[in-house]
Amino acid sequence: MLTVSPELLRASAAHFVEGELAIEDVALADIADAVGTPVYVYSSAMFSSQYQLLVEALKGLPNRLHYAVKANSTLAVLKQFADLGAGFDIVSGGELSRVLTAGGDPAHVVFSGVGKSTEEIDFALKTEIECFNVESAGELARISERANVLGKMAPIALRINPNVDAQTHPYISTGLRENKFGIAQENALALYRLAAADPHIQVRGIACHIGSQIGDPQPLFDALEQLLALVDALKNEGIVLTDIDLGGGFGVTYDEEPAFDVTAWGDRVKERLGDRGLQLSIEPGRFLTANAGVLLTRVEYLKVGDEHSVSNETSSAGKHFAVVDAAMNDLLRPSLYQAWHGVLPVKQQNTDGNTRTWDIVGPICESGDWLAKDRQMSLSVGDLLCVLSAGAYGSTLSSNYNTRPRAAEVIVDGAAFRLVRRRESLQDLLTTEML
Ligand SMILES: *Cc1c(COP(=O)(O)O)cnc(C)c1O
Repeated sequence: MLTVSPELLRASAAHFVEGELAIEDVALADIADAVGTPVYVYSSAMFSSQYQLLVEALKGLPNRLHYAVKANSTLAVLKQFADLGAGFDIVSGGELSRVLTAGGDPAHVVFSGVGKSTEEIDFALKTEIECFNVESAGELARISERANVLGKMAPIALRINPNVDAQTHPYISTGLRENKFGIAQENALALYRLAAADPHIQVRGIACHIGSQIGDPQPLFDALEQLLALVDALKNEGIVLTDIDLGGGFGVTYDEEPAFDVTAWGDRVKERLGDRGLQLSIEPGRFLTANAGVLLTRVEYLKVGDEHSVSNETSSAGKHFAVVDAAMNDLLRPSLYQAWHGVLPVKQQNTDGNTRTWDIVGPICESGDWLAKDRQMSLSVGDLLCVLSAGAYGSTLSSNYNTRPRAAEVIVDGAAFRLVRRRESLQDLLTTEML
């Protein structure tokens, strides 16, 4: 009998082939042998199929998909989305630079974020991006001033904070009044009037983004209604918007959460926007990349607790730790959000093996450095493990904490795989410093 529940893999690009995990037609063990561990592995086919789901869901409605770069900003990933026809949602000048390097079209870039610097605004104006999603009166004033200096017109939308609860983790909820994001509705009309009267500003649209890993679509519909009420109020004043941006946030399956039903969501949005002549924009990140990626890591050490001691909630005497070569610097989500990731041995196991309950932890000197807790499996030193759903907010949240080089990244395409980011060297880590 197999220890592995295939349910765990239902949303993942990874699947078993003759008892070994593979992505598309490539065995993950072959990638680990060739590139070493830890390594992020992505499925090119799944990036495309997730993208296609959204395209289909919005068919018939004028729309543009802006991939949220911060979910996974590896150049080869951006290039694939650019080739698929995506625009991009960026939150920094650095991300704009990545989009341009990957061959993305600046005319399809929207710039979000509460803290755009003068330098970043200038960069975006010079490259003539599609739209600034403005998050405060101060930012609007600064964009106008820079557009004046540079002799440009700045296309803008106001990002509204619709004060709806996305019902998600507090760290990834952004649409509540208490969050730092967006402009309060009651201030929006006055700011639109200012913007409409500004000779350096072209008022294009209205935007929101209420949070991430959203399961229930209702908060998104609530936000849509609030934006539409503002669109109507503005129209009465002669300020006609052409674009409506509903942000990202579509949830994915990590454990047992049902995937966000983009088809049902799309049908309702189409019904609501049908004849209004607004171009819809969305900014999905996680939905496009999370389950297309895994993180491969190898077991370095096994620390087996005292089998005979009494183990309960408060005593860890009986705990077993599998120390692996990936850590919170590689995949921060468990430490940052107590996020749950499926973990499977790359070689399928029999339950008659020596099964124990393991905490899977990294080498970093922090108790918060763990990837998974209380997982039942039979482990030996040297085993290769696959951390699922690691394609979004994995590599982009990685760091060099403990002076650990960042992991390599690989894209699988059918029976072939290619290195798209080499593992950092220790030399890479020291080059910016001087004694
Ligand atoms: C992070 C972010 C997104 C993407 O969120 P996902 O949950 O990954 O879809 C979209 N828009 C903005 C403004 C963001 O900050």
